Amino acid sequence: MTIYSHSRLGSFESCPKKFYFSYIEKPRIEYREGVEAFMGKRVHETLEKLYSDLRVTKFNSLKDLLSFYEKDWKKNWTDSIIIVKKGLKQKHYFDLGKKCVEQYYARHKPFDADKTIACEKRVVFSLDKGGKYKMQGYIDRLTEESPGHYVIHDYKTNGALPMQDYFDQDRQLALYSIAVYNDFKDCEDVNLCWHYLAFDKDLFSKRTENQLEGLKKETIALIQTIEKAEEKGEFPTKESRLCDWCSYQELCPAKKHGAKVEKLPVKKFKKDEGVKLVNKFVKLSGKLKETEIELDELKENVFAYAEQFGLEKIIGKKAALKISKTYSYSFAGLGKEEKEELIGILKKEKLLKKFLTFDTRALGSAVVKEELGKGIIKEVKEFGKEKESKGVRLVGK
Ligand code: SF4
Repeated sequence: MTIYSHSRLGSFESCPKKFYFSYIEKPRIEYREGVEAFMGKRVHETLEKLYSDLRVTKFNSLKDLLSFYEKDWKKNWTDSIIIVKKGLKQKHYFDLGKKCVEQYYARHKPFDADKTIACEKRVVFSLDKGGKYKMQGYIDRLTEESPGHYVIHDYKTNGALPMQDYFDQDRQLALYSIAVYNDFKDCEDVNLCWHYLAFDKDLFSKRTENQLEGLKKETIALIQTIEKAEEKGEFPTKESRLCDWCSYQELCPAKKHGAKVEKLPVKKFKKDEGVKLVNKFVKLSGKLKETEIELDELKENVFAYAEQFGLEKIIGKKAALKISKTYSYSFAGLGKEEKEELIGILKKEKLLKKFLTFDTRALGSAVVKEELGKGIIKEVKEFGKEKESKGVRLVGK
């Protein structure tokens, strides 16, 4: 049985194709971590050390902690780490991570506002009574503020600070609170706390029992959608700005051609078969547009000529042009009040059933075909506009 995690679910939501590569095909390609994720890990490890040491009475000075951060950074850094944002270098991210640790340290020292129960605590829990839908996750730090009152802490090193709505809707920590309620029998409530370290800001939220029940249902529905996609083998691509950080660009149907050709020198780029096809398509589409404009002008001239001489058919060398006129009645763009008034008229005449969903198109067609009584047609017509459509098509002589 698959045990789901928030990141597994999030991966499917952000791009089913990426989910497929990450969890199903698992291709043997080099996983390239983004520098933001790399920096986040180093900061997490540093804060984990801070609290894990405290649990065995070792108090780290800021200097100790920063020295750990720097060693951890150097030990793990590899050239495969991706820096997507132009103009930024490894040092910028290193310094940002350092600032996160320094600010957190200054704000929370001497770290005795709560009791740390666990760091990087693995939680496993069921979303349903039968245990069919299981989830797991890691809580950055779990604390007890006072007996029975727990807090789930999450460290964030993001460069953007979301609004309160985001925290009130967040799935990850809310799911973890289900595990805390299950695992701690004395648990009365669970607070959720996000430490936005780069902003030196702590944000809070919590969930009611009803909200957690709703969340369980939504999450089960999402798992079922994933399982259906797995059964059908349907994992469409979903392009977004997150593609820039995706390790699977060279395998992805939406990105692999771009990933291949963008590395080519200009001459080779121009010679690429795909590039040539797209360029030709663009050129022809441009011509087609021009032709369509010319054709529209020509049609106007044809109508004017036919009108002038009272013609229905104009003869050419290889074909003839047949000119036709049709009438329609349009009720598009009615205001709310007008719409209600019109519905009232139809109701009065017991005609609304006929246009059950108030189908203005069908109503327009009924007006033209005179399928309604004469009196009502007159009344209804007040709300619409008559439209004349002309058509011209090539026919045999
Ligand atoms: S590159 Fe973009 S569209 Fe392709 S798999 Fe990755 S996230 Fe999905």
